Amino acid sequence: MTARPYNFSAGPAALPEEVLQQAAAEMLDWHGSGMSVMEMSHRGREFISIAEAAEADLRELLAVPANFRILFMQGGGLAENAIVPLNMSRGGAADFVITGAWSQKSAKEAQRYCDAKVAASNAAGGHLSIPDAAGWALRADARYVHICSNETIHGVEFQTLPDLKALGSAAELVIDCSSHILSRGIDWSRVGLAFAGAQKNIGPAGVTIVIVREDLLGHALAICPSAFDYKLVADNASMYNTPPTYGIYIAGLVFQWVKRQGGVAEMERRAVEKAGLLYGYLDGEGAGFYVNRIDAACRSRMNVPFQLRDESLNADFLKGAQQRGLLQLKGHKSVGGMRASIYNAMPLAGVQALVDYLREFAATHG
Ligand code: PMP
Repeated sequence: MTARPYNFSAGPAALPEEVLQQAAAEMLDWHGSGMSVMEMSHRGREFISIAEAAEADLRELLAVPANFRILFMQGGGLAENAIVPLNMSRGGAADFVITGAWSQKSAKEAQRYCDAKVAASNAAGGHLSIPDAAGWALRADARYVHICSNETIHGVEFQTLPDLKALGSAAELVIDCSSHILSRGIDWSRVGLAFAGAQKNIGPAGVTIVIVREDLLGHALAICPSAFDYKLVADNASMYNTPPTYGIYIAGLVFQWVKRQGGVAEMERRAVEKAGLLYGYLDGEGAGFYVNRIDAACRSRMNVPFQLRDESLNADFLKGAQQRGLLQLKGHKSVGGMRASIYNAMPLAGVQALVDYLREFAATHG
């Protein structure tokens, strides 16, 4: 194997090399079937075995209770911003907690389908912290409360999920966990529905995972497209329409890879270690040269935005990074600066190589 560069893309993002190798080896002939997975009928026994294994492995990895359904859908996180209110709002109220760009987008889209209102927002401070749950303006008639449990652009992550019952709310909690799914456990006693686009921690773009408690199915608005009605999708084992078969296959390989590594607990241990290494450098030795402004209590373990104090050095920084095989470090245009996304597939050695480069660049440009 030749060493590949370290890819810090926010998504679509790096996949485990072992998974890519296995997919390459199986490309022309999956398990003696004479077919590529891409060429299989989704209703054939070969693909059904792939889809069933993927679902069972995901259920095991995230300890998803039996009364939750796992759906493999399409349309990504942005489609879910419409599909969730179409299925969950019953045309009534839904509350949104704004912690960055993605929750903001969710609230805006939901307004088209239901009475969506912002219950709390960190926008005034520049999306740097999470508003204290005790102060959220939750409405008694809200069907659900939406949060983005990890804000990919702003680098803000919930370290624990809010307990809506303890806050006196009967609403369901909906989490957009696109950019940190499988990097930590999910407390299902607090969640009604979780969704995640696959292209960060799971696999290729095109697959959306929805995990929803069974009793919440069957309430789609009449205008909800059939293919996006969770009940129809669940009743048809995610095969109401043709699912994104190849993406589900790769996701399944990633689930097996996570299991071989030691599961979600091990992914979390590594995430804490990797994020600790990077934030430790930025806050300590690197603080004179770089800055991360996010409240330390809610910094993301997955997406680490940071700035050079002298922004005129940005282009040089990115050029040097590229030359060292440190790819896609440019920050999102709305935040500027840099962003290192360090998902499950990023090894500790990749984060160490980044820190070594940060140190070297500061020494030669400080
Ligand atoms: N939610 C979050 C947290 C995201 O990071 C993204 C994509 N970066 C989305 C939603 C939107 O996903 P998609 O582009 O697949 O619709």
